[in-house]
Amino acid sequence: MKLVIVGGVAGGASAAARARRLNEDAEIVIFEKGPYVSFANCGLPYHIGGVIKNRGELLLHTPKSLKDRFNFDVHVKHEVTKINVDGHTVTVRNLLKDEEFEETYDKLILSPGARAFIPPVSGADGDNVFTLKTIPEMDSIKDFIEKKTPKHATVIGGGYIGIEAAENLKERGLEVAVVEMAPQVMTPVDEDMAAILHEHIRLHDVKLHLGVKLKALEHSANGRTKVVVDGAPSFDTDFIVMAVGVRPENSLAKNAGLEIGPRGGIVVDDTMKTSSPDIYAVGDVVQVSDPVTGNLVQIPLASPANRQGRLAADNIFGREVHYRGTMGTAICKVFDMAVATTGQTEKACIRDKRPFKTMTVHPMSHTSYYPGACRLSLKIVFDPRTGTLLGAQSIGVDGADKRIDVLATAITAKMTVFDLEHLELCYAPPYGAAKDPVNLAGFAAANMLRGDHQAITVRELDELKKDSYVLLDIRRPEERAAGVIEGTLEIPLCQLRDRLEELPKDKEVIIYCAIGHRGYIGQRILSQK
Ligand code: FAD
Repeated sequence: MKLVIVGGVAGGASAAARARRLNEDAEIVIFEKGPYVSFANCGLPYHIGGVIKNRGELLLHTPKSLKDRFNFDVHVKHEVTKINVDGHTVTVRNLLKDEEFEETYDKLILSPGARAFIPPVSGADGDNVFTLKTIPEMDSIKDFIEKKTPKHATVIGGGYIGIEAAENLKERGLEVAVVEMAPQVMTPVDEDMAAILHEHIRLHDVKLHLGVKLKALEHSANGRTKVVVDGAPSFDTDFIVMAVGVRPENSLAKNAGLEIGPRGGIVVDDTMKTSSPDIYAVGDVVQVSDPVTGNLVQIPLASPANRQGRLAADNIFGREVHYRGTMGTAICKVFDMAVATTGQTEKACIRDKRPFKTMTVHPMSHTSYYPGACRLSLKIVFDPRTGTLLGAQSIGVDGADKRIDVLATAITAKMTVFDLEHLELCYAPPYGAAKDPVNLAGFAAANMLRGDHQAITVRELDELKKDSYVLLDIRRPEERAAGVIEGTLEIPLCQLRDRLEELPKDKEVIIYCAIGHRGYIGQRILSQK
């Protein structure tokens, strides 16, 4: 068996390693068009920021170390330019010698990843405009900072890579601006959750330009660039990092006549086989299904790429394993906070016209009396008819990761909010609470579905007729300095039982407090009265 792999990083390297563990005699050949294999692309922003000090830490293997350990034939700076499906060969260009040759294969795995998308605006090809996908691109950004000593950087795009780049450029002491077309950063979470991030990012002195579209980059002779945007004043910067998303690197597959999905991802079955029987594809280049909704999705993340690579090798070497889909479980560091998400968001449910309810709780990350406890925001999205979990998002300084991992597991197991009430999770004061935030989210959501309380979101409040309700603020008077909603009635929770007559009987009473807990207690008092 001769296995040829195109792309030697996340999916490709993972497929190759699994293949070798399953078959010691197979010939395994990897072609990688870049100068490095098996490098840690997820670590690139952190070397720019100096958090990962040693560049060598990002280079997990060399062709020689892969030969020694796994007996792979790794060819870097070799680009596969064509697949000859009928002849079972690939055409390879040796970029070092500028020569082309044919290589045969029995099975082929494509893991060419995705390319950074560059918006079609004038000036996007300037010398001070960078993308951040590869080690050489990271080196170029570092070089520019070291040689040109810029003062101001602009990141276009407020997604995972954009925010990681912004944070790390800030770490380098630069002034940083982020331009994002959407009204929020981190579009994989809902806007109410992203609002927490906006405040935190601004606190770290990064200028956010939200809801504005890049129109042009006007470079001048003095090395500065004017960033021209729609819907906000232009501003000057010294260099630009483009992080507006990626597109599947599908040209090889397209030219070979493999089936491609509507958004450019290679179509694969659940064994990662393409429309051609001896060709498999994995990673950022493929279209897969979302196990929660059944929607076809392209989700460029390292965990799916690695697991798909392993699974493709399993299937090639006779172990039938089926891919279960990608629901987009992800996490990103945003200065001192983490934002994590899995499954469906509120806005995705609205877009797909899927029935949903949400519940957001804001407990402490661990018991408040043990030092270091921080407020955690945890939002769950679920089916109002059955309570089945559809998605979850969490933001906080501590503990967002483990809650989302628990909830990703719960969603995979098709659990409901009622199941969350019963989860037995680890607890000691430094780590959690006897009622973990995941339990609390379950209690609050299950209480709502049982009719113990009702909850509405800000979005739902905006849709109500203004004269149909009265807002009741049940916080303590001194808390109101943090902000009030205009025209609200103010009765602190501890006075509520004695001041019931002040509430109108002909209107709906909508209670708010700081984080929802006292609102719930207030609602229980009122509904029982
Ligand atoms: P890649 O790992 O990109 O590998 C594809 C390789 O194929 C490339 O090296 C390319 O040069 C090569 N190639 C392409 N075409 C050819 C050809 N014709 N011939 C030969 N070689 C070819 N994901 C997370 O889950 N968490 C993170 O924290 C995270 N952080 C990231 C940070 C950055 C800066 C970047 C860029 C990505 C990050 N990702 C993260 C995404 C993750 O790295 C990708 O989802 C993952 O690497 C995809 O694996 P892949 O094998 O599909 O593609």
